[in-house]
Amino acid sequence: MKIGTKAIHAGVKPDPTTGAIMTPIYQTSTYVQAAPGEHQGFEYSRTQNPTRFALQDNLAALENAKHGLVYSSGLGAIDAVMKTLRPGDEVISTDDLYGGTYRIFTKIFEPYGIKFRFVPMDDPQAVSRAMTDATKLIWVETPTNPMMNIVDIRAIVDVARQWNGVRVAVDNTFASPYLQQPMDLGADLVMHSVTKYLGGHSDVVMGALALNDDAWAEELAFIQNASGAVAGPQDCFLVLRGIKTLHVRMQRHCENGAAIAQHLARHPKVEKVYWPGFESHPGHRIAEKQMKDYGGMLSFTLKDDRQEEAFRVLSSLKYFSLAESLGGVESLAGHPASMTHASIPREHRLQVGLTDSLIRLSVGIEDVEDLCADLDQAIG
Ligand SMILES: *Cc1c(COP(=O)(O)O)cnc(C)c1O
Repeated sequence: MKIGTKAIHAGVKPDPTTGAIMTPIYQTSTYVQAAPGEHQGFEYSRTQNPTRFALQDNLAALENAKHGLVYSSGLGAIDAVMKTLRPGDEVISTDDLYGGTYRIFTKIFEPYGIKFRFVPMDDPQAVSRAMTDATKLIWVETPTNPMMNIVDIRAIVDVARQWNGVRVAVDNTFASPYLQQPMDLGADLVMHSVTKYLGGHSDVVMGALALNDDAWAEELAFIQNASGAVAGPQDCFLVLRGIKTLHVRMQRHCENGAAIAQHLARHPKVEKVYWPGFESHPGHRIAEKQMKDYGGMLSFTLKDDRQEEAFRVLSSLKYFSLAESLGGVESLAGHPASMTHASIPREHRLQVGLTDSLIRLSVGIEDVEDLCADLDQAIG
């Protein structure tokens, strides 16, 4: 089955009692048992829920994985993965990680004795140099936020394979399974903030994991139930519905993203556009190899590189809403230096190109002519 067919059909069956084509929202906390222990496989909704199971099977299929698990947020999913580590274990990750991931790593799990090393992961040799006998996990994010750096997943997997028992996890939120399937490149686990492209309509917060390893999946399902960060049936229904148009939405996100990247690159007041589709992007060749297309995320800086100028542009935009998050049908714009990356010292962010005027766009699926016109009138 190809991805568009999977998006619509994988994991979902007509409801056995009525034939309803849409998976019912099993809005129930518990299930009646005929006698103690005599039930139909469902006892309590933290542990089992049919709407959630349908979504989990669908997500596993989309990522070409055996097992899928959903959690109440992307960070809830990351939390579960980290709980499979033990004090003394080490994790290597990218140095331009999603802020919330950096926070849970350093503020929640470091105090429990897990060690994190952050390296520039667009250089697989940097990962190789950071490896020790205690390394258990390499945490990859690609493309990265907001600089749109590309990490070569297969090259990182090759580094991991030179050591015993080192696993590779990929946060696939920015690409979505439509653009990139890390399991096929050798990754051991894929994580999603379902909140973004998978949900796709800015109406749900949810996280997901997909993997093949039976024992690790069992441990993660145990944590899902034991720690309790499960996704509710209503949210699972909304995501099942959202995923049915994932491939169609992604196609348009990519088309619009490309058109806007090229439009901005020609704008006299724009300094630089960060989008992996450009030949000049340092990760372009790798993106071409491991992604189907370049996605709907991009960032740009202004020639007048002042925060006030970025603020002026952001507050003049009409169709791009100023908001956190990404991946919804509606276009969003943000200012990483004062929003998502405000906690990073200015010197440090300037070094990686995250300047005062950098604006990040999550390009939606509106008519691209309207989006270009909106950017033009706002930039002036
Ligand atoms: C949003 C996001 C997360 C966190 O997911 P939540 O659903 O907000 O908990 C993790 N990684 C990336 C890349 C994200 O964009």
